[in-house]
Amino acid sequence: MSLYFRLFILTLLLFSGTLAAARYNSDEPAATAPLMAQYYQSADFISLPQLQAITDDQWQDVPAASINFGFTNHHVWIRMPLAQLPFDYRHDPWILELGYPLLDHAELYLLNGSTILLRTAAGNDLPYTARPIAVPELAFPVPPLSQADWLYLHVHSDSSVQIPMRALPEQEYWQQRVASVTFDAAFYAILFSMLAYNLLIFLLTRDVIFLLYSLSIAAFATMMAGLHGWTYALLWPESPHLNDLTILLSLALSEIFLALFGLFFLRLRRLHPRAFRLYSGYVVSAVALVLLSVYLPYHTMIQLLTGQAILMSISALILGLLLWWQTRSRDVFLFFLAAFSLIFGLLLYALQKFGVVPVNLITEHAAEIGSVIQVVLLALSMADRHNRERQARLAAQDVIINMQREANAVLDQKVRERTEDLEQLNQRLQEESTTDALTRVRNRRYFDQRFYTLYQDAFRQQTSLALLLIDIDHFKQFNDTYGHQLGDTVLQKVAKCMQQAIKRPQDSVYRYGGEEFAILLPNTDAQGALQVAEQLRARIDRLRITHQHQQLSVTASIGLCAAVPLGREQQELLYQQADKALYQAKTQGRNRSCALPLQQPDADDRQQNG
Ligand code: GH3
Ligand code: MG
Ligand code: MG
Repeated sequence: MSLYFRLFILTLLLFSGTLAAARYNSDEPAATAPLMAQYYQSADFISLPQLQAITDDQWQDVPAASINFGFTNHHVWIRMPLAQLPFDYRHDPWILELGYPLLDHAELYLLNGSTILLRTAAGNDLPYTARPIAVPELAFPVPPLSQADWLYLHVHSDSSVQIPMRALPEQEYWQQRVASVTFDAAFYAILFSMLAYNLLIFLLTRDVIFLLYSLSIAAFATMMAGLHGWTYALLWPESPHLNDLTILLSLALSEIFLALFGLFFLRLRRLHPRAFRLYSGYVVSAVALVLLSVYLPYHTMIQLLTGQAILMSISALILGLLLWWQTRSRDVFLFFLAAFSLIFGLLLYALQKFGVVPVNLITEHAAEIGSVIQVVLLALSMADRHNRERQARLAAQDVIINMQREANAVLDQKVRERTEDLEQLNQRLQEESTTDALTRVRNRRYFDQRFYTLYQDAFRQQTSLALLLIDIDHFKQFNDTYGHQLGDTVLQKVAKCMQQAIKRPQDSVYRYGGEEFAILLPNTDAQGALQVAEQLRARIDRLRITHQHQQLSVTASIGLCAAVPLGREQQELLYQQADKALYQAKTQGRNRSCALPLQQPDADDRQQNG
């Protein structure tokens, strides 16, 4: 809020500075009385002799610097006694300047009584080159005429009839012109640089707002150049008609582009539908006026377009304030300040015209100063908006990137957890598929894998591998006597007992089938294996199974074979020898361990086993 207030104060200060400078620069010393003139107007043309017959009381007094009849088709006559001129007009050349460059016809007479001493014409009806002095404003050079006592001026124009008159000694006139031209040059240079700058921004960003703004500056600059008489002076000095058309068209185009610009910049369609219709109406009516300019006379056209320009300025001011109230955005406030600057400048210019503020270089150019401030403020507001939108876009991108990053992290974590779960599950499944459900020792399938691997290892490293086959004695009988369920309990107890008995981590117990178990002992020779077998057997023998207050015992027979493998194909033989040893243990009375070496079974053995 305080920022807006400061901006507003800054703009006001700028203008009050301008006003102060205007007072300071005032080239009319307070002591000098302003030039006074008299006017007479009529609908029809009156010749000079007829005019001189008019009585003095029909002439109206008016300050020469602020003669303004507005839009009139009347013939206007101005007269002024030369005696009041503050310089020696009888001996020095001087210049009468009409500050408004768009008069169609102006004719100057210098008289002595009723004798015409000098008659000279200027105005847009004449080609530029036919002017007495080739300057954009209308100016009449007057030689020193010692006899002259009255000045008469006849003006007739299709558009606004403003005849601000100044009389200056020739030298002073040219000094002031240099200052004025410098001022104009600076004004157009600023407008041109803003135009080029915004056009470049449009080419870079393709944002249509910058194009509309550039076009409105171009149209506005052309209009100002037309009003100042520069287009006439520089572009088509032979054709006053073309200059009128230039002013009309550039004014209409300024209105079209500015209305479109306001429409887009203030986002009226969304923010203020009623204002949107109003601004669309401005565009349509300006376009219609352009088409009508073929049929309507210049003064009607210029009145309609000026009326619309005033309406547009006031509505821009009100709308800017309203929308700023609604949105509180800085760029809208700058828009309001821009409209305010332009209107303030135009107001100052009008006040100067009505003699409320002094006429000088600055108040003469108040409209230009206001419009330059407006142009700069609008450019500032667009840059501000562009910047803000960019920041918002970057912030949104950051949010999206962060969201993506977070989502990725969550996804990563999920995948990791799921993978771990799957790995665990896989391991459990693997274990489950190689574990015997009843006894929780490894099953036959795993035994086959391990036996193969350990046998190959033993062959490669030429170390001894021992295989123990354990079979519970008279188990069928046990089952039959005490029931299958107790049989299962025995199997579990025996398995657990064996698992506790083996000590090395690489040794393991397998349930080979029914009530038969197998144990693989890598790096173990026959003697060591027999020792393990005996310990096992003894432990099983000590096992007691409680059944209906009875302590039942169980025994097992163990057959083993331990050897350093001599060939890859001897794995089967190793098993057969262990099995044969088990058979021996059974036949020799059970509850014992038997060992057999790894050797080719002879013919007898084969017959026995077969
Ligand atoms: P031997 O001393 O000669 O080994 O006599 P045995 O009775 O143990 O004879 P055999 O090895 O032929 O008997 C195997 C019996 O084991 C047959 C079956 O009733 C029993 N058996 C096999 N698997 C299971 C099992 O999972 N649970 C129970 N309770 N009994 C089983
Ligand atoms: Mg058996
Ligand atoms: Mg058995």
